[in-house]
Amino acid sequence: MSQAAYDVAIVGAGIVGAACADEFARRGMRVAIVDRDLVGGGATAAGMGHIVTMDDSEAQFALTRYSQQLWQRLRPELPSDVEYEQCGTIWVAVDEEEMTEVRRKRGYYGQRDVPTEVLDSQALRRLEPNLRPGLVGGLLVPEDAVLYPPCAARFLIERAQKRGAEPHLGRSVTALGRGRVRITDGSEITAKIVVNAAGTFAAQLTPGVEIKSRKGHLVITDRYAGFLRHQLVELGYLKSAHSVTSDSVAFNVQPRRTGQVLIGSSRQYGADHREVDGEILTRMLQRAQEYMPGLAQMSALRAWTGFRAATPDKLPLIGPWPGDDSLFLAAGHEGLGITMALATARILVDQITGTKPEIPIEPYLPSRAAKEHAHA
Ligand SMILES: Cc1cc2nc3c(=O)[nH]c(=O)nc-3n(C[C@H](O)[C@H](O)[C@H](O)COP(=O)(O)OP(=O)(O)OC[C@H]3O[C@@H](n4cnc5c(N)ncnc54)[C@H](O)[C@@H]3O)c2cc1C
Repeated sequence: MSQAAYDVAIVGAGIVGAACADEFARRGMRVAIVDRDLVGGGATAAGMGHIVTMDDSEAQFALTRYSQQLWQRLRPELPSDVEYEQCGTIWVAVDEEEMTEVRRKRGYYGQRDVPTEVLDSQALRRLEPNLRPGLVGGLLVPEDAVLYPPCAARFLIERAQKRGAEPHLGRSVTALGRGRVRITDGSEITAKIVVNAAGTFAAQLTPGVEIKSRKGHLVITDRYAGFLRHQLVELGYLKSAHSVTSDSVAFNVQPRRTGQVLIGSSRQYGADHREVDGEILTRMLQRAQEYMPGLAQMSALRAWTGFRAATPDKLPLIGPWPGDDSLFLAAGHEGLGITMALATARILVDQITGTKPEIPIEPYLPSRAAKEHAHA
């Protein structure tokens, strides 16, 4: 067999593929990164950019927290257009039942060295005066941050390029595996390792991978400096994000450096069209205004949609794909791919280079999905 042109060919130049390209190049490997579009143009361009520690499961916590710490370490190198701000998250509680969840979350994070602060009603109002009166409190997680995802992806690709990585943009991949990436024009890129980082399209390129698209809407307002200081998320978000059957909306707003407010969020399965859905958008905005009535006075500049890559067990697929020694997956990050990108790249490259990963990798191994597929 002729020699492979690259050590690694990564398909997908979203935030996950970009982080992988950066990490492989940092470890001295010859990297090709292939995308049919531009860098960070898929879900990465549509995402909110909340770098958030989450605790739905131990595995989700481990990956989000580790990745958040990697973003923190990278912070001094990030250019200003990445707009990294450690604004913190406040999980907002509307009643005593949700305050019980605040205390549970505080306990969970506290045991794992994540700083938090429980806010009563007054403290919440002091920190975010534009929330409606009558909310009972919340949990401040000060190390959570926000950034602008497409510029973060571009930064990572450019850093990889400085270390020799070669982007192949505008090239659509029809098949991958067995050390090859086939392009629509019939040409092939050969590599010892092929990484499928094609987001919601990963399943099309690797049969047997189970990923569903989960549509989301976002709205950005005009500039209203000082209106909002933290990423605010309703505690009910956890319930709606877990729903796998029905459409859901939740209060989730983000302050941008420009003074704009980014308003989310919605989740829909089976909605395959890119078009903004007026009904769900209205529900989403109404939900936001229930928490922040002042949003109703703001002018919205743009609304858009994007698709999250959802796996059945809500964890990403990171590692070797059974049956093809050359093929690895880095996909299926649902609503946390911006947060998880750096840790995904680290543990993937650790696996390939035989380095001991800093967190247990078993929960993310694609073999679990392949097994489920075989028994389905
Ligand atoms: C509304 C919304 C809000 C979100 N908010 C957040 C948030 O606050 N925090 C967070 O952490 N995450 C958030 N996410 C999730 C996050 O955006 C995604 O998990 C992340 O962007 C996934 O990155 P990716 O690189 O895997 O996929 P993508 O960014 O989709 O990249 C995949 C790339 O593969 C390319 N590709 C696909 N098929 C082919 C092919 N056949 N040939 C060549 N190229 C191909 C595409 O062109 C694309 O560039 C949100 C998502 C949505 C939709």
